[in-house]
Amino acid sequence: MTVRMSKKLASKEGGVAAAMLYAIQNSPREVSLHFTLDSKRILHALTKGLQEYEDKGWLNVDDSSLLRAISAALRGRGTRCTLREAGEQDRWNMSKANEQARLGLDDGAPTVLNTDIPEAYKLDGIKLSSGSQSMFYKAIKAERHKPERMKTTIMLDITRHAARDLSGKTPTDGDIWRSIRNPDISRTTRDFMWRCMHQAYKIGPYWTNIPNFEHWGICRHCQVEEETMEHILIECNAPGQETLWNLAQRLWEMKGFQWPEMTHGRILACGLVDVQNSAGKSDKGANRLFRILISETAHLIWKIRCTRTDALLTDTRKYDKRALKIRTVQDTWNGVLKNPENLPEIWVRQSGFLVGIPPLQ
Ligand SMILES: [Zn+2]
Repeated sequence: MTVRMSKKLASKEGGVAAAMLYAIQNSPREVSLHFTLDSKRILHALTKGLQEYEDKGWLNVDDSSLLRAISAALRGRGTRCTLREAGEQDRWNMSKANEQARLGLDDGAPTVLNTDIPEAYKLDGIKLSSGSQSMFYKAIKAERHKPERMKTTIMLDITRHAARDLSGKTPTDGDIWRSIRNPDISRTTRDFMWRCMHQAYKIGPYWTNIPNFEHWGICRHCQVEEETMEHILIECNAPGQETLWNLAQRLWEMKGFQWPEMTHGRILACGLVDVQNSAGKSDKGANRLFRILISETAHLIWKIRCTRTDALLTDTRKYDKRALKIRTVQDTWNGVLKNPENLPEIWVRQSGFLVGIPPLQ
């Protein structure tokens, strides 16, 4: 049997916790349970470390909702439960379990795990005698930023899904954060990706809920109701977006690779692509080109959009100063190509806008 989580897990070991919770919830209450775990951290959290984690309100503990649900579910059972660490003798069983887990990845519907804790077993907050001042401060901050974290969680999930499309592998949050910090990507573009992941830009949905500012959330070019990042990067009819993606596609195909249809998720997952060479090995050069090409193109589209919005909001003189320079466009592509002189030569700017590049053949 395999369990596939619908929600994201903060760590690889979270999978162990998810499987445990599933087993506890789906075993008859009168049977005793024996777990053999290959995660020292989970084992510690549920045994020796439990008291301390509970006293400190599970602050900064990965997959704490699962661990809390497990400890509550175990308390709710009257029967014996043992936990022990996997040893040499369990190697065969563990390899079988890993095999099962791989098969589970292709299973259609995820298992919905209930991590709700019955009122009687709920232990919220930090025990006063166990907390330091900085710990309370962190807990208050974590509470206050919950909606913000929700936005990031959603983006991480979208990215994870897209990464699976691109590479066949399911990355953890850590893998995703590392991929957008890749030093191959320019510093400003890394910053752009990081902000996208946190949905930190004040665009469409940000304004929708602010009275009298709702109109700021509309794409001024297409008049669509919510100018989301997805709209800006993929859908917007304003000049720039489509042309730049066509160029990126042309370059990628020139290298002999197949172009995947672009989505917001795939842009954020571009650092997790895994192109295989003819020998079936990861093509490092191609992966590097892909992450630079996709992230820089997306960032450039964003910059063009900002320049355009600025132009609408400010006077001509200011606009001239801020307008996106052709040089910036060329610099971006220079970073991507070994021979930038092979780039389409005419980057036409008219009335301050980047309007076109010769049509693709
Ligand atoms: Zn638009």
